[in-house]
Amino acid sequence: MKWGSVVVGKAVFALVVPLAAVGALLAAGAPAAESAPPRQSPIDVTASAIRFDPFAPALDIHYGHSAVDLVYVQKDADCGARGGEETEEGDVAPGSAYVTYAGTRYDLVQFHFHTPSEHTFQGHHDPLEMHLVHRSAAGGVLVVGVPLRIGAPSVVDSVLSGLTPECGTPRHLDDIDLNALLPASHLTARYTGSLTTAPFTEGVLWFLMPEQHVTAATVSGFQHLFTAGNSRGTQPLNGRTVVLHP
Ligand SMILES: [Zn+2]
Repeated sequence: MKWGSVVVGKAVFALVVPLAAVGALLAAGAPAAESAPPRQSPIDVTASAIRFDPFAPALDIHYGHSAVDLVYVQKDADCGARGGEETEEGDVAPGSAYVTYAGTRYDLVQFHFHTPSEHTFQGHHDPLEMHLVHRSAAGGVLVVGVPLRIGAPSVVDSVLSGLTPECGTPRHLDDIDLNALLPASHLTARYTGSLTTAPFTEGVLWFLMPEQHVTAATVSGFQHLFTAGNSRGTQPLNGRTVVLHP
């Protein structure tokens, strides 16, 4: 009978896998949540998942100017291997940019890039996606995600016009208008998810914005560095909704 083999299979699974899983959880520092379904990122934003809520708390953006150091984020010891979780990251001066949301201030720490986009809209990818990572004093994480599409040049092109090689010296940019990294429209699609690289910590507040534009040269330059891509695939919604706020 099939049923019997399933039970045996489950018993073996229960004995063997959790030991490894517990080790992984301890290593990742994740809570041992047993009943809650995963709330991971990125996701595919579908029309059926969206709820319009003009009364949701506003995301107030206070972005100034900052020097930016563009660093190559290395996740392995090999200066030639292009790991899927590696990226180019712009580090900003502390206090140069922050957002407030529901009474909490989150300071911009860094922004980085993925190809292709990690979030999709009705299954559609953009060539690049920018993540602006903010952190609160209490350690909360809020990420603004901006799809990057080929079009007119923007400040993002200035940042990505010269990429830092893996194991190379960071590229220093004297003055970047951080607000100009963002699209003109600050409409946001919000949901709660996770980091998209290890340790995939959950409880991350995601705010997805409309697209910003970059040149075709910027897109191809980044894709040339990460030829196999540096994006995580979309994760199940597991009943989450995406709140659209004007
Ligand atoms: Zn990211």
